[in-house]
Amino acid sequence: MNAIFSELLTAIALAALAALVGWFAAGEHGASLLLLGAIGFFFLRQLWMVLRLIRWAGCPLGTPTPSASGAWGAAFEALHRRARLASAEREHATEELARFRRAAEALPDGVMILDGRRSIEWMNLHAEVCLGLKASVDTGSCITHLLREPEFRDYLDNPDHRGVPLELHTQRNPGRNLQIQAAPFAAGRTLLLVRDVTQLQKLATMRRDFVANVSHELKTPLTVTLGFVETALDALHDTPSQELAQYLQTAAEQARRMQQLIDDLLTLSALETDSPPPLDDPIEAAALLADVFQEIQVLSAGRHRLTLENQGPRGLLGSARELRSAFANLAGNAVRYTPEGGEIALRWSAEGEAGGRFSVRDSGIGIAREHLPRLTERFYRVDRGRSREAGGTGLGLAIVKHVLERHQAVLQIDSEPGRGSTFSAVFPPHRVQS
Ligand code: ADP
Repeated sequence: MNAIFSELLTAIALAALAALVGWFAAGEHGASLLLLGAIGFFFLRQLWMVLRLIRWAGCPLGTPTPSASGAWGAAFEALHRRARLASAEREHATEELARFRRAAEALPDGVMILDGRRSIEWMNLHAEVCLGLKASVDTGSCITHLLREPEFRDYLDNPDHRGVPLELHTQRNPGRNLQIQAAPFAAGRTLLLVRDVTQLQKLATMRRDFVANVSHELKTPLTVTLGFVETALDALHDTPSQELAQYLQTAAEQARRMQQLIDDLLTLSALETDSPPPLDDPIEAAALLADVFQEIQVLSAGRHRLTLENQGPRGLLGSARELRSAFANLAGNAVRYTPEGGEIALRWSAEGEAGGRFSVRDSGIGIAREHLPRLTERFYRVDRGRSREAGGTGLGLAIVKHVLERHQAVLQIDSEPGRGSTFSAVFPPHRVQS
């Protein structure tokens, strides 16, 4: 306001001075001529300043305002301040947006924003992966043109359904189970949350199957035990004691099977929950091998030719109890799946630079290739009847796999039906003591 006032005063003073100079120089005519000139100069200056303002407004953002004196100088200064403020606010908003996007990218779930016409405005990387889309190509496309499953369209069309997530199997990412939830928000937009629940559902199925398997495995020996005990009870008075002893013998065998199954289940559960095996507990390889060898000598009872070869490093680092159980399981399987007269060779040797390999080679029945990837699954057996006959629980190799994983070792299986198998546990250098 002050600047405008002083601009006006300056203009009036200049006009008065011009009129006075004109009066003295050329009388009345001179005064009016110079007064008109001064007013003209004043208007031309305003016009020039307006032109500079218009030119500045057309320049890119951030161009400094023109410099001027008086009221125009004050006006340009005020505009400059506002422009700086607007640019700071813009930068802040851009930073906020970038931060929001970074947060949305970091979310473990897929996030997608749809506009009022269901076109994709934005999606994070998880959404791209889950839905088999590509942000660089698919942004701007209508989501129902990309995901054509009718249940997905129904879900978006029906606002009542949006409270509950939709389970979706889409052609765009076959084999995955997705869970999608839509949440409408400002200006007709929709936020889509996408979650890949394949693994969760697999785990739930595994848990269900496991409970069913355990119940089934326990049910058979329990039924047999109960049957024999009841028969023995019914016939207690009029049956020869030899026959009764046979009934009880069979019942005891079945009870032992149940006990073995429960022992294996407890071992597995301990392997899943116990803290990792120590890295600084040395186990002497020779003693461990001798232990396992002695155990299979008892199990084989002279029915096989057994050999033991120890050319490997001095020891292992980890849990002696766990490794003993894993090695004994592998060696025990060789005895149980090798017919009488067969050969079984236990070997401890160096592996690569500084690792170790424990292998059990047998000349037994062997395993067909298609079974190999599933052998370490709980209760997976190539021949259920044969495994039962051999006193197996179907949990041995699952235990071996767990123990080896806990020691960062891997199980390798090489087998040919009718010719025999080799099961090897390969240890990394940091688990081996040379
Ligand atoms: P099981 O208690 O039935 O032996 P495991 O988990 O130890 O359970 O083994 C799973 C299956 O792998 C066995 O049922 C058997 O079919 C097969 N198997 C394991 N070791 C051998 C082997 N040395 N020779 C042939 N088959 C084997």
